[in-house]
Amino acid sequence: MPIRLTPQMKQRLTRRTMEMLQRSLSYFPELTDAQITIGYTRKHLGSATVIYRKGVVSSLIIRLRVRKVTYQTIGHELTHLIQGLAYGDSSGARSADPQKIPSGEKQCDIWTLARDPLFCDDAPTYLKMPRIMREHWSDYAGLVRDLCLAAIERRHIHRQYIRWLEDEMAKMPRAPGQITPATAQLTLPFAT
Ligand SMILES: [Zn+2]
Repeated sequence: MPIRLTPQMKQRLTRRTMEMLQRSLSYFPELTDAQITIGYTRKHLGSATVIYRKGVVSSLIIRLRVRKVTYQTIGHELTHLIQGLAYGDSSGARSADPQKIPSGEKQCDIWTLARDPLFCDDAPTYLKMPRIMREHWSDYAGLVRDLCLAAIERRHIHRQYIRWLEDEMAKMPRAPGQITPATAQLTLPFAT
């Protein structure tokens, strides 16, 4: 899968971030044939853009910070590209296809966490969760990912699946005895 770097990114990209990018991309088979431009941003955690020209995808761009970039952020932006591709798909099947990732930031968080434990190395930005979960994210990551997978399943029968997910997360810290050590379920690929 060809990656193009903007000049700004070329100057800043570290080997570690490049490896993280390539590793992340290997979990996105939908993007196998796409050329992706990687740009740099200092304002946000990241951003993603899908540009169409005459109804055809002309470029896929994600922008990332380099310092302290996480798999969670990379995965989130790549998921936005998938959302963007689905949105522009003029086959007319987009809303009917249950495999498609719906648009929206929370949806992006859910599908990113669900994709692989790799992308659970940091808490998602948009899903609402109790502060304690953000502060002790590694204890909750595996459970939250399981809930995300369950929410995606429920989506077909339960329109309020995001609300259901956030309600379940809100209940979690109040039952600490039931929390299994998520670290046991997760092997996080921390690059040192
Ligand atoms: Zn986003």
